[in-house]
Amino acid sequence: MSNLYIDTRGKAGEPVSFTTAVVNGLAEGGGLYVPQSIPQLSLDQICALAKLPYAQRAASIYKAFEVDLDDETVDDLMAQAYGRNFDDEEICPIASLGNGMHVLELWHGPTSAFKDMALQCLPLYFSASAQKLRDEGVIDNKFLILVATSGDTGKAALAGFADKPGVGIAVMFPDGGVSDIQRKQMVTQEGENVMVWAVRGNFDDCQTGAKAVFNDAEFNAKLAEEKQIALSSANSINWGRLLPQVVYYVSAYGKMVESGQIQAGDPIDVCVPTGNFGNILAAWYAKQMGTPIERLICASNDNRVLTDFINTGTYDISDREFVLTPSPSMDILVSSNLERQLFELTGRNAQAIDGWMRDLSADRKFRVDEETFAKIRADFASDSVNSADCLATVKRVFEEQNYLIDPHTAVAYEVAERLRGENPVLVASTAHWAKFGSSVYRALHGIAGSDPLPEDVQKLTGCELNRLIARETGVDNIPAGLADLDEKAVRFEQVIERETASIESSVEEFLASVNL
Ligand SMILES: *Cc1c(COP(=O)(O)O)cnc(C)c1O
Repeated sequence: MSNLYIDTRGKAGEPVSFTTAVVNGLAEGGGLYVPQSIPQLSLDQICALAKLPYAQRAASIYKAFEVDLDDETVDDLMAQAYGRNFDDEEICPIASLGNGMHVLELWHGPTSAFKDMALQCLPLYFSASAQKLRDEGVIDNKFLILVATSGDTGKAALAGFADKPGVGIAVMFPDGGVSDIQRKQMVTQEGENVMVWAVRGNFDDCQTGAKAVFNDAEFNAKLAEEKQIALSSANSINWGRLLPQVVYYVSAYGKMVESGQIQAGDPIDVCVPTGNFGNILAAWYAKQMGTPIERLICASNDNRVLTDFINTGTYDISDREFVLTPSPSMDILVSSNLERQLFELTGRNAQAIDGWMRDLSADRKFRVDEETFAKIRADFASDSVNSADCLATVKRVFEEQNYLIDPHTAVAYEVAERLRGENPVLVASTAHWAKFGSSVYRALHGIAGSDPLPEDVQKLTGCELNRLIARETGVDNIPAGLADLDEKAVRFEQVIERETASIESSVEEFLASVNL
């Protein structure tokens, strides 16, 4: 027996299998897939999981969700997903800071951002799912993953999909719009099936360009006919990116019991720096499964649309400016996974969701009913942190705890301190500090985001700046993947135009040059 997936807008027809949901990404009609049933774990089962290696914990959760792949395949894929590619045997260890704060370090993967937790796993399941559907004669094509990125997702997706069979990956980033470290991480990516383009434009142009290519029926038909290729995406609306994130919340609770930080059954709160609502939604599913999580605390930066929504019940982007902050991966106005959360909190009312989503695209806002709002208030709390307070938190936590955090983690840490009650708080730490070295340097030296860095610092590469920070702080933990970027060969230097035709001809050129 296996679990099936329904969609949040009730338009996709018959429920589909896990493998189909992974390969499709988005459901037909624009909704998102959610599992028909959510498995329950007992407290004993949660605590027993902590005794297994992380890969086996992950496999247990996938089996509890009854994915339609056999148990040996799941065991094998998880061993590949969570092994030596992480620089800590625990995969995502917890740093307990002694002031009641427990920091879940989700950045020990190959690209040093929490996206690795899902993107070391999803590509393996994507390839296995596509192979299964080909074997069953359901599909006969291969795939090209097309990704628009503002930084973290692109590299994590490249690292995850590199050299996976039957699939290629092409990433577009805004030319001049990502940090030196982020650009070098992408343009030095190895692998036969990978391509990276800088796009003349900003992140919005990249995203709009990608959507236009996905929606160009003629182009898609041509790729299918001439190359037997279907386009797909790896963004966080894919259920295959969400399920790996459920694992670490169940796992973290068991680990906190095992290490004696809490007693089995004690409630904890979880605080998550939130953008697209994927990470915090995974914590909600972990709670639904039986993990004793009491409050889910949603931390926002100056783009505080989610904080306002959780505190008022109205989601409103009609008069909201997009603000650039030191935590760019949370600079988001349309938070796509909120749709899944609302579907769950309305008792799976697809009609209500469809209506709100139509309001959002027509009026740039929607308001939930009072009953749903009460449910949101029962599970969630939220606050936002401005850019100056974010940088001040990086400095304060370093001075008080001798622990260096990145700006995204700092947003969550500050909100956790403001909103915490009796329960221990698990703070999700989503990036290594060395991915955001220039903001960390500003924080430690008290230089505001609007002021220039000293001239000798401006001249440094991202890697050199990180080494300077490591020397000054004595925090000598720059990940291997970030330390040697200056020495790595640049493989991709092409800058393309943002027009759909330019992206499409670049896609064709790439596909002509590879053998997937
Ligand atoms: C993607 C990202 C986030 C936001 O996570 P969501 O699941 O989109 O809410 C936060 N911090 C970092 C470093 C990220 O890369």
